[in-house]
Amino acid sequence: MDIAELNRRIAELKERRGAAILAHNYQRPEIQLIADYIGDSLDLARYSAKVDADLILLCGVNFMAETAALLNPDKTVLIPDPRARCPMAAQLPASAVREARKKHPQAAVVLYVNTLAEAKAEADIACTSANAPQVVDGLDEEKILFGPDRNLAWFTQRRTDKTIVPIPENGHCYVHKMFTPADIALLKEKYPDGEVIVHPECDPEVQQLATHICSTSQMLLRARASPAKRFIIGTEVGMLERLRRENPDKEFMPALNSAICEQMKKHTLQKVYLALRDRKNEVHVPPKLADRARGAIERMLELSGRATRD
Ligand code: SF4
Repeated sequence: MDIAELNRRIAELKERRGAAILAHNYQRPEIQLIADYIGDSLDLARYSAKVDADLILLCGVNFMAETAALLNPDKTVLIPDPRARCPMAAQLPASAVREARKKHPQAAVVLYVNTLAEAKAEADIACTSANAPQVVDGLDEEKILFGPDRNLAWFTQRRTDKTIVPIPENGHCYVHKMFTPADIALLKEKYPDGEVIVHPECDPEVQQLATHICSTSQMLLRARASPAKRFIIGTEVGMLERLRRENPDKEFMPALNSAICEQMKKHTLQKVYLALRDRKNEVHVPPKLADRARGAIERMLELSGRATRD
């Protein structure tokens, strides 16, 4: 089936099933184009909490689909390919969070939304790369257990007076680990007028060479607002598609062409079509676990919503 025919069938199924398609910024361009909403983890969580649809098809990795399911217990949440599982989320099982709590009983637990529901159920509050320092600052505790991304923990530590303890010690995203200071330095030398924007999951040495460090949706805002005409982007390459599409008069260069998240790219138009057609790959979170994990996300949405309103 060609792309035009797949698009036609997906649109028809969406209408018939009362479905909304949510896609992360790292999705393939053809999926971004059929999505009702594209965003980073925080955007997707916010949008899924208020979307008026009976069925949500989440084109992202497992923890994003779980988040949508947690926030919408009365809706059906599907994922095109259930093998889209974030390896970083798997680095922090619930047992590791419980152990860390035992060692640091006075600390609050802040978990990146890139965690499984079982870990979120052990957290005091969730955060995303768009709001981590703001979430940490909103807590009363001075010591914060923060996981699973060590680089986001470092980024957050630089923006708060609290004591951040990364859990696990070396949690990381393999895609953002690919960037090196040498890649960035070379591109800066070649394009001295280029603004360097990187994700806080990149190593500290890479972050230190950037003009801006932010989540993917914040990259979009920065690119729109910036007077610069050229940008060097340090995140998964799918983000470049959206940046180029929405800023046709500006030039965007990947800091590394091979920065591809294989898990995000598991979804294809064909799988979107099949999931909608057969209502398959439903995301289930056991109700008791869901109730506990939902609290951490709702507290984050409340806190970041409050900050947006203030
Ligand atoms: S880009 Fe990194 S953090 Fe995001 S889903 Fe892929 S592996 Fe996980």
